[in-house]
Amino acid sequence: MNQFRFSRRPDIGDKVRVSFEFFPPKTDEMEARLWDTVTRLEPLKPKFVSVTYGAGGSTRERTARTIDRILKETSLTPAAHMTCVDAARHQVDGVIQEFADMGVKRFVALRGDPAAGVGTAYRPHPDGYANGAELVGALKVAGDFDISVSAYPEKHPESPDFATDIDMLKRKVDNGATRAITQFFFDNDLYERYVERARRAGIYIPIVPGILPVHNFTQVANFSARCGALVPAWLAERFDGLQNDPQTHALVASAVAAEQVLDLVERGVGDFHFYTMNRADLVFAICHMIGIRSHEAEVAGSAAA
Ligand code: FAD
Repeated sequence: MNQFRFSRRPDIGDKVRVSFEFFPPKTDEMEARLWDTVTRLEPLKPKFVSVTYGAGGSTRERTARTIDRILKETSLTPAAHMTCVDAARHQVDGVIQEFADMGVKRFVALRGDPAAGVGTAYRPHPDGYANGAELVGALKVAGDFDISVSAYPEKHPESPDFATDIDMLKRKVDNGATRAITQFFFDNDLYERYVERARRAGIYIPIVPGILPVHNFTQVANFSARCGALVPAWLAERFDGLQNDPQTHALVASAVAAEQVLDLVERGVGDFHFYTMNRADLVFAICHMIGIRSHEAEVAGSAAA
């Protein structure tokens, strides 16, 4: 019973650092929800918060607007995602400069999915950056940025084997990446094996697990099938029959994610990146369980003591 072992470790929050990922909102209603989420999560003092970027620059303005607001209205450190799909080098360089002028110092550098959709062949722009590694190189030339890249514990669906996949990660590190953030996964053994493979290949940057709280199991199962992430039978079993019971679904989801994170802490992992889906509830609960408390909670606690 892991939870009893963990509950005797009040120091755990000191060892764990978190970052949060948001996507740029499309409508006023979504924007309001994002800012409720940002306001709720800000007191947890994440190391950084990242904002995704649509392939082909489809969200360029919305990503920039969201980052600008984070810079101006919060104490948070934003990281801008960038992709190279369907863009010439000078266009990508222009976006890097635009973000840098706003005060962005952190980037998450990605190739992006093929313009025709996941599963179709990727065709680099004839005058563009061909992959994540080349984009990292461009960022390195453009400024002194903190550069995160993607990593795939179950290998990227386009990688024929793990050796090719790890080789691509190595190229990104050689070009200047300082951290890898993984695709979400539910089986911690797969993550651990991937990290071991990377270390054996001479990759020593942090490989931060990406944690996806399961807000909607059916959607997560469909998305996992598309991006090559395994949904273990035990996970499907946990959510079985909860499609029309959102309250129990949320309770199970926070228990599942906390269990995953606590097991990773036991394995020596200290940094976690949460895919928030612009929702605070589950992420806040999970952070609470791993000992990450808001400053307001500390103040309220000491006043009551
Ligand atoms: P890369 O690392 O460049 O390549 C992925 C794989 O393709 C490699 O592992 C390799 O197997 C193969 N490959 C590519 N080029 C070559 C080559 N020259 N030779 C041999 N093999 C090659 N998508 C978005 O659109 N916007 C986002 O904001 C976004 N954020 C993400 C954040 C994280 C943390 C992660 C994990 C993914 C994110 N994605 C995002 C999804 C990502 O764009 C897709 O997974 C995409 O298909 C691959 O992008 P990449 O940067 O991982 O690609």
